[in-house]
Amino acid sequence: MNQQQTAVVIGAGFGGLALAIRLQARGIQTTLLEKRDKPGGRAYVYEDQGFVFDAGPTVITDPSCIEELFTLAGKRIEDYVEMLPVEPFYRLCWEDGSHFDYLNNQEALDRQIHARNPADVEGYKRFLAYSKAVFEEGYIKLGTVPFLSFRDMIQAGPQLARLQAWRSVYGMVSRFIQDEHLRQAFSFHSLLVGGNPFATSSIYTLIHALERRWGVWFPRGGTGALVKGLVKLFQDIGGRFELNAPVARIETRDGRATGVRLEDGRLFQADAVASNADVVHTYAKLLGHDARGAAEAESLKKKRFSNSLFVLYFGLDHYHSQLQHHTVCFGPRYRELIKDIFNGESLADDFSLYLHAPCVTDPSLAPPGCGSHYVLAPVPHLGNAPIDWEVEGPLYRDRIFEYLEKRYMPGLRSQLVTSRIFTPHDFRDQLNAHHGSAFSLEPILTQSAWFRPHNRDAELANVYLVGAGTHPGAGVPGVIGSAKATAGLMLGEVAA
Ligand SMILES: Cc1cc2nc3c(=O)[nH]c(=O)nc-3n(C[C@H](O)[C@H](O)[C@H](O)COP(=O)(O)OP(=O)(O)OC[C@H]3O[C@@H](n4cnc5c(N)ncnc54)[C@H](O)[C@@H]3O)c2cc1C
Repeated sequence: MNQQQTAVVIGAGFGGLALAIRLQARGIQTTLLEKRDKPGGRAYVYEDQGFVFDAGPTVITDPSCIEELFTLAGKRIEDYVEMLPVEPFYRLCWEDGSHFDYLNNQEALDRQIHARNPADVEGYKRFLAYSKAVFEEGYIKLGTVPFLSFRDMIQAGPQLARLQAWRSVYGMVSRFIQDEHLRQAFSFHSLLVGGNPFATSSIYTLIHALERRWGVWFPRGGTGALVKGLVKLFQDIGGRFELNAPVARIETRDGRATGVRLEDGRLFQADAVASNADVVHTYAKLLGHDARGAAEAESLKKKRFSNSLFVLYFGLDHYHSQLQHHTVCFGPRYRELIKDIFNGESLADDFSLYLHAPCVTDPSLAPPGCGSHYVLAPVPHLGNAPIDWEVEGPLYRDRIFEYLEKRYMPGLRSQLVTSRIFTPHDFRDQLNAHHGSAFSLEPILTQSAWFRPHNRDAELANVYLVGAGTHPGAGVPGVIGSAKATAGLMLGEVAA
């Protein structure tokens, strides 16, 4: 344990919340400051005319990392939030009219795989074994270890080499599985954390084993109910939380942070400061006045950033009982579309979509007989494609509605009660995300672990990072894992 007695955490995303809880539970008086009017960050909540829309994460995996936050604070998760199992995990649909229900039942999986290509039953078995090995190494062993020195990276090297981490997710899946639809079914997962399946390390196949191990969950009342539960937990153990509190700068003196100043001028002094805000925003804006901040910001701006998303929330006066909770609607192109999303300079004509229908699991998220939904399309970030979303947004919305109505939700447009969109501009302006990226730095091997911004700044000794931009990366389990790594450093439990 070191000398830190007070801490400020900037930003109440899952990473910031998890870190604040960990610090407060260990007796560090912690203040959590969030710029928006509600907590959650990407997991914000919109409500309109009785419809509740989770803005971001809906596929909740590894409930054990969430439960751990309650346990370490001496509380029981059941007293705060109820987690409901989701099955199938996802329904994957293609334009030829076929679908694949991805679930946690080996027999049912084998049956569906066999129907597509008998040889892939054996191939899937070997893929699952590989995915489990990566999961043990990449998630269980290294997921919450802060990579502060290159030595840590070298130590992990032999395992990464053995697991052929230089291969891409799609490349690795293709070594085991022949059928193109099945290759898509078992490689799209990295997109959930902003990783291009054709470029990101095969380490990200671990998501498959992670889902098979713990299942897919959804909190009763939506992801927002989980966020509320975490905020309550933090406050119950004495944490201080302020909304509408945008931080303007992290104050520094003699190579250390002394506290933070809000845009309204208020100063919060602290022994340590951790930022859950976007990493470029943290260095360029909050630390831009300090030579270290300015230099690090310039270096970060040269990195590759994940794609952005176009998200369309909509409430219908009709319940579409044909839908599953999570549906992936593959478009006509896979490899080429992903190339356009990650490297393209404009919006492609086609799209692949993720469709969320939470009322399948929890009907209370809409008025009786109605349905809350969101649909998202991965799109290029603003650095690659400076699209005028004020103009394109409504047009893109109309194209997506037309597509959904034709293929998945008959009558959709006549059932519409409410809708709203969230574009790359909103990621940039509301969440301070560099280039409007939805997942921060792209999770390629050369931007992972030690190569990712570290959980503690290399020079400012009491400035820490938590969330998608630091190790291990995006996704709810990822950022909750980052909080464990960062808390370990702040509490002096990890050798620095
Ligand atoms: C649409 C969408 C769907 C997703 N679906 C899934 C999913 O199903 N499963 C999954 O595991 N992951 C999913 N993800 C990824 C996951 O949501 C994110 O990786 C994760 O929630 C990011 O958490 P974070 O801790 O990095 O913080 P963020 O959620 O990025 O929060 C950062 C917070 O900092 C605040 N902030 C910024 N600047 C300041 C400032 N100057 N002062 C004060 N506060 C500030 C922001 O307002 C924000 O609240 C999804 C993401 C999106 C966008």
